[in-house]
Amino acid sequence: MPHDIVVLGAGMVGVSAAWHLQARGHRVTLVDRCEPGRETSFGNAGIIQSEAVRPYAFPRDLMTLVRVLPNRRVDIRYRPGALVESAVPLLQYWRNSAPDRYERLVPEYAALIRRAQSSHAEMISAANADTLIRKEGYLEVFRTVKAFEAACQDAEQIASRFGVRFRALDAKALRRMEPDLTERLVGAIHWIEPWTATDPGALVAAYAESFKALGGQLVRGSLQELSRKGEGWQATIDGKDVVARQVVLAMGPWSAQWLAKQGPAVPLFVKRGHHMHYSPRGGAVLTHWVLDAEVGYLLAPMRAGIRLTTGAELTAQESPPSYRQLAAAEAAAREFFPLGDRLDPKPWMGGRPCTPDMKPVIGSVADLPGLWVAFGHGHQGFTLGPITGKLLGQMMDGETPDVDMGPYRVERF
Ligand SMILES: Cc1cc2nc3c(=O)[nH]c(=O)nc-3n(C[C@H](O)[C@H](O)[C@H](O)COP(=O)(O)OP(=O)(O)OC[C@H]3O[C@@H](n4cnc5c(N)ncnc54)[C@H](O)[C@@H]3O)c2cc1C
Repeated sequence: MPHDIVVLGAGMVGVSAAWHLQARGHRVTLVDRCEPGRETSFGNAGIIQSEAVRPYAFPRDLMTLVRVLPNRRVDIRYRPGALVESAVPLLQYWRNSAPDRYERLVPEYAALIRRAQSSHAEMISAANADTLIRKEGYLEVFRTVKAFEAACQDAEQIASRFGVRFRALDAKALRRMEPDLTERLVGAIHWIEPWTATDPGALVAAYAESFKALGGQLVRGSLQELSRKGEGWQATIDGKDVVARQVVLAMGPWSAQWLAKQGPAVPLFVKRGHHMHYSPRGGAVLTHWVLDAEVGYLLAPMRAGIRLTTGAELTAQESPPSYRQLAAAEAAAREFFPLGDRLDPKPWMGGRPCTPDMKPVIGSVADLPGLWVAFGHGHQGFTLGPITGKLLGQMMDGETPDVDMGPYRVERF
């Protein structure tokens, strides 16, 4: 018997789409080659970033570009081969980061971000996942007065324009909150609203369990082929054909290659990141998620230990690992907080699925009825999964979505 809807990919985005569609009364099958939430949605920093109303722009000022060029920074690295391979999307990314273009797309991005937390709240409650969530915001800390003052001014602007809440902490106030951080810090911005997940993969798994409790079906297997079949679609999963009226492609960094087989080309590229867990040394305690803003890595006190997540490396999704950026971040972090031993046998690695205009791709696909897409959430897919699922559900049921979905359509590329 044909299924109503097959959702391909069980990361934060696919699980959330499946959950919403099932909750709306569809018969949904969710497919992944791994257990839910084991790829990009597993290894991230776990921040539900309600403050991230502006997406990550490509650096445009000459000084930053000159500093990035020697390829020794902690926050941004690149593989020269990847720059050539992804030259077109990266050039488009650079153009879209020009002030006038960027200003136009910020409200489109913010429209999703500002609705993200309440969408998580609904799913956290349904999944009984409160124990995985902390509601104490996170800290962006600074080493120089100049950078701190500039960041405070910037935060004021975001606060007045988007209603985001923050507190500026001087060195003393920061020390009261996190006494074991280095004394060399001059201050911090405490983003008050964001929530944090103490085990991001477990949160996705809890959402997937809730999907199953609603009656959804989870199938473990690799997608091998996707083709049109009569009025619907046929997905071949580990040699078995699954037929459905509608299909949602939500395979994170692997989505564009599958969409391209149907025709439309989305210039997706990845920004790779790593993580490693550490024990604290000498009884030190880290209470909050802390972004070392001027260096470019993050420390997160998670269930598995203190997770260090790295900035971005521009490389191909399937290129072999290089742990130099992680080593540089670890060296900086050891001066910043007393980290003890590494706790994982090897570093985790994953790729943020990025588009040249920094916005995700969500919606139907022209001339391919029944095919829907939800991918390209870049730096904030853990945050944006549930709102994406909610909006997709509204679109697939022919309702007027809460947000104008024009800016996220596939055909913009
Ligand atoms: C270091 C780092 C830190 C980050 N920190 C944050 C953060 O704090 N907050 C935030 O909001 N975002 C963060 N992100 C970004 C976020 O993790 C991603 O945007 C998000 O996880 C993407 O989710 P997804 O569901 O689109 O992709 P994925 O989680 O990668 O899911 C795609 C799924 O498709 C499946 N799949 C692929 N191919 C096949 C196939 N052939 N057959 C079957 N299944 C297949 C995969 O197994 C996978 O489960 C961070 C990312 C990184 C790398």
